[in-house]
Amino acid sequence: MNPSAANQTAATRLRLRITSAAESIVRSGHPWLFADSIHEANRAGQTGELAVIYDRKDKFLAVGLFDSDSPIRVRILHAGKPQTIDSSWWKAHLEKSLTRREQFFDETTTGYRLIHGESDGWPGLVLDKYDSTLVLKIYTASWLPRLEETVSLFKEKIPSERIVLRLSRNIQPVAEKQFQLYDGQMLFGLTPDAPVIFSENGIRFEADVMRGQKTGFFLDQRENRAEVEKLSRGKKVLNAFSYSGGFSVYAARGGAKSVTDLDISAHALESANRNFALNRNFPGVAVCHHETVQADAFEWIEKTPAKFDLIVLDPPSLAKRASEREGAIRAYERLNALGIQKLERDGILVAGSCSAHVSATEFFDAVRRAAVKPGRKFSELKTVQHPPDHPANFKEAEYLKVIYLKYAA
Ligand code: SAH
Repeated sequence: MNPSAANQTAATRLRLRITSAAESIVRSGHPWLFADSIHEANRAGQTGELAVIYDRKDKFLAVGLFDSDSPIRVRILHAGKPQTIDSSWWKAHLEKSLTRREQFFDETTTGYRLIHGESDGWPGLVLDKYDSTLVLKIYTASWLPRLEETVSLFKEKIPSERIVLRLSRNIQPVAEKQFQLYDGQMLFGLTPDAPVIFSENGIRFEADVMRGQKTGFFLDQRENRAEVEKLSRGKKVLNAFSYSGGFSVYAARGGAKSVTDLDISAHALESANRNFALNRNFPGVAVCHHETVQADAFEWIEKTPAKFDLIVLDPPSLAKRASEREGAIRAYERLNALGIQKLERDGILVAGSCSAHVSATEFFDAVRRAAVKPGRKFSELKTVQHPPDHPANFKEAEYLKVIYLKYAA
């Protein structure tokens, strides 16, 4: 890979012709062009350079980022009328993502997603804000040769104290070997000497921006956490797969009697304890009985004699690839059936899935099947999908879904 690939001149621009099936997919706005859809190229492409896609009549169709190592060979940046992708285009492109967020949050929320990959027009790139720290996470090697240019644009347009680089596991070897870029490194600013703290609806949380899952926190569950706060007054709450206790602090502020954080990771539970300590200024958090349990959630829930008024089940993705879809659907059904057995008579279940390979309907139906119990009646309170700072505008991007069920007393 050539680090100067991003600077290819127009004269040598990579030009691609694609199958007619792919042509209509690209025309419809889908952001991925797979390698086997390309039937003609004027030369070999280099990762990170711009590829221009032409239709059967040799007219401009789209332009995107080329990735020679990925089956998704081009990630579309722009489709439609011909466009020059230069620095002023990138500036305007960033402005669009930033402006889109302006009306979503007030000053009580200082942690949210600024750029959400393909659905924001930045394929394979995520930018999260945790107060004055920005975390840039990259999922495709095509951004690596462009990093300098991209980071200086972010620095110019988004006031911040530092920018942390996070790399998806599959691109870490090439990033290290060819670009000396490491997961968790500072692209700008100093390494934080304490956990980064941000606010979400007035609640303070720490984010493990250098090593934590995703970019350090599950910003995508914000709206569901706020909903759980409203449902928690006087309740005994179980937060399974709790991570750093996001749902739990909200439940406590909402007046939960007790909250149990259940996670397999001791590290996550330590963070949950710190997040409770950070919010003792809220009377609900100060008086709530909070405990942590380090265990496999499937095993612990099955065995515990305890019952709860509200259970949150938000496991990690149970289908990492398409072939795991059916097994994942069965696992969701089993997990939620286990949870439902531990609900008090008028208990509430909040069941989540973040597997893109399992559709919302497949997941909701699995939970509904799990909920059918002889002699017990349940009502469906609601289903929720993507929050506004995590838009999903094509099928493969739809990963998040949550269903709320309540049993009759
Ligand atoms: N609900 C959380 C995010 C959950 S992420 C939030 O809103 O912040 C998934 C969590 O599940 C991780 O913390 C991971 O450590 C935990 N986990 C993974 N497998 C587990 C298992 N078998 N039992 C319990 N926890 C598990």
